[in-house]
Order: sequence, then C-alpha cells, then structure tokens
Amino acid sequence: MQRTIAILGSTGSIGRQGLEIVRELGLPVSALTCRSNIALLAEQILEFRPGLVSVGDSRAAEQLRDILSTKFNLKASDQPEILTDNSGLETAAALPETDLVLAAVVGFAGLRPVLAALEAGKDIALANKETLVAGGEIVMELARRRQTKILPVDSEHSAIWQCLSSAPGRQFKRIFLTASGGPFRNSSKKELAAVTPAQALRHPTWEMGAKITIDSATMMNKGLEIIEACHLFSCTPAQIEVVVHPQSIVHSMVELNDGSVMAQLGFPDMRLPIRLALTWPDRPAADYYRPYDPCAEGANQLVFEPPNEELFPALQLARSAFAAGGLSPCVLNAANEAAVALFLQGKIAFPAIWQIAAEALAQVPAAANLDFATLEWAHNDTIARIMQRHP
Ligand code: NAD
Ligand code: MG
Repeated sequence: MQRTIAILGSTGSIGRQGLEIVRELGLPVSALTCRSNIALLAEQILEFRPGLVSVGDSRAAEQLRDILSTKFNLKASDQPEILTDNSGLETAAALPETDLVLAAVVGFAGLRPVLAALEAGKDIALANKETLVAGGEIVMELARRRQTKILPVDSEHSAIWQCLSSAPGRQFKRIFLTASGGPFRNSSKKELAAVTPAQALRHPTWEMGAKITIDSATMMNKGLEIIEACHLFSCTPAQIEVVVHPQSIVHSMVELNDGSVMAQLGFPDMRLPIRLALTWPDRPAADYYRPYDPCAEGANQLVFEPPNEELFPALQLARSAFAAGGLSPCVLNAANEAAVALFLQGKIAFPAIWQIAAEALAQVPAAANLDFATLEWAHNDTIARIMQRHP
C-alpha cells in the first residue's frame, strides 16, 4: 500500500532515517517540517518535493525561500508553501492528502501537531515519546475517538508491539523493557557528579539527537519509556520491568499469560522500527540492513542485569509521576526538558537533572482537567520556574 507521508521533524535523527525509508519505498511526501536546519530542509525539498513545509519562524522561512531560489534555482511555482510556528506545524500535520504522519519532533513541542493529526484522522508513526508522557490520556482518547492508529517507532515499543502480535486480545503479564544502561552504567556517584556534556553525548550503541542521548545517559529515557508503554499497551508500571542489556540486541520482551516469553531482536538500527510503522501491516522485503548473526561479536553474549535504581533515580521518578497522575507526568517531562537544556549549556551538573525533576514533581499544581491548554500551561510554567532559578 502506497501511503502519503508527512514528517514532522524531518531534519532530525529519526526524520532523516524516515526519509531514507521513504526513498527506498518510493513513498509520496506531503509535508516536511523542521525548526532551524534550513540548509538540510532545502535539500530534502529538492529531492522529495513536498507541497508544504513548516519552519520555526519567519526568519527561517526567508532563508529557505532564498536558498531555494538562488542556490537551487527553483521557480516560485515549484516551491512548496512555506508556513511557520505552531500553526504551520499543525497545518503540516493535518493535510487532507496525508495518510500517515511520522511524529519525529523532540519534546513537548510535538504534542500540538500530533493532536492536530489525530483530529484530522491521520495514523501516527510515533517517535516523539514526550507527546505520550505529557499528554498520554488525551492522545490515546483522541486516537480512540477518531479510530486512528498510533504505531510505535521507539525501538522497545516496536518490539513489544511485535511480540504482542502473538497475544490474543493483546493480553500479557509483564513487559521486560530493555535499556542499554547508557555510558555511565558502571560509574560511581562521584564520577556521575563530574560528567560533562561531551561525555554524556557519547552513547555506546545508538546515534541519536542530543536530548534523547542525554536522557539515555540519565536513564530518564527509560523512565519516559515506562510511561509511553503504559499508554500504548494499557498497562501499569508494575507490569514493566526494566532490564539493562548493554548490547542493545534484544529490543524488549513480553511475558504472555501462559508463561511464554517473546523477544524481538536484531542489530540496533532505527530504520527497522521506522519502516515497520510506515509499512504495517505489510513487511516488504528489504536489503539495506545488516543481516542478523547470532554468532557475531556483540551478539553472541547477551547480558541482562537489573538497573541500579539508587544511582539512577529516573525510573522511580517516572513511576511515581505516572502513579500520581494528573499533571505529574507532564511536569516531570517539562522539568527534564529544562534540566537537560541547562546541563547542555554547562549551567548545572549531571545529577542535578534528577534533582530538578524530583523538586518539580514535589510541587505539581492540581488540575480540574487535562486538556491541551492546561498541559501547555503546566509545561511552560514548570520550565519558566526552573529557568528563573538558573539564569
Ligand atoms: P533530533 O534532535 O535529532 O531531531 C528533532 C527534530 O525536531 C528536528 O527536525 C528539529 O528541527 C525538530 N524540532 C526540534 N525542536 C522543535 C520545536 N520546538 N518545534 C518544532 N520542531 C522542532 O531528535 P531525534 O533524535 O530525531 O528524536 C526525535 C524524537 O524521537 C524524540 O522524541 C526522541 O525521544 C524520539 N526517539 C528518537 C530515537 C533516535 O534514535 N534518535 C529513538 C527513539 C525515539
Ligand atoms: Mg527507545
């Protein structure tokens, strides 16, 4: 089936790999968006010819028009419509010709366009996990109401989803959510206190955007993924066991009701889960990937160990945020976004990321309902308070 694809965040790590798959499968592209990497977006426009693009602001739009006209000699009539800001993202997410939206924006910024896409009845290939962490209730409820599908792109969730295809009614006992453990899994408390942004940006097994790489180093990524899994697979954190698996070969496992355990594995390559979300329920033959070899170095000895939750408090923070409900997961996500930005700017130490998240969770405002406006307010308010304390 030839689906028409819109990619939100097309210049990022997931967005670029998504376009590799789009190129391989020859899928039509309706819209692309990015915040500020205009040079790359211009190249993508030239190759994939979307009818519409959206960029961060009017200056970026100016720059883009300039590159398309002067560098690529594209006549105005051959250029896509160029929109900006939130309304541009929403329009890009909801075009009538789009069948499936690859949501690959990073952070809370992706929630508004995901809601717009669902409202317009689009299926979503979801990489942007913060969307489910901050707004899981409204996202899942809207998907149910509009009868659209949310197809997981996050490798662990894609694995769980694939394992569940052999569970009637998707019933299961437990999920084993695997984690690489990040670059500091064997560090001491003292060493963690001295971690620099450059060290934290070096991930042992995956090449990803800066924010998720830091999230992997703090294990907040796994905390966010616990909440993501609870929404996607209608379960509780008590059913999810995080296991550290440094080889990143087993992408997760599910224990079914009868005691059988299903695992999905392969060499780490995000293009596989992206491709499955773009082609599901088909699995067209592919030849770009490294064929699995269980005897290869790195795959022939699979290690699993429990996470060190005392050293890495992010998992417990995520479980308590989910249990508290209301605005807590949204506030946790916002505090983490702010703290990661501060750490990357060199303004706070590595362990302060957990501390800032814990402090924010201790003072979550009550909310009568969880509509988008309330979530956006809580998100912005949490970030503003934290930024104020660290000018
Ligand atoms: P990235 O930083 O490489 O790319 C982010 C993209 O979003 C870019 O195109 C950027 O222009 C755009 N963007 C950033 N901020 C924006 C804003 N405020 N408004 C609009 N657009 C904005 O990030 P990534 O690594 O590709 O990750 C994207 C999402 O996918 C994240 O939620 C991440 O957790 C998730 N994810 C990534 C991977 C991976 O391997 N990279 C794996 C699993 C899940
Ligand atoms: Mg993941």
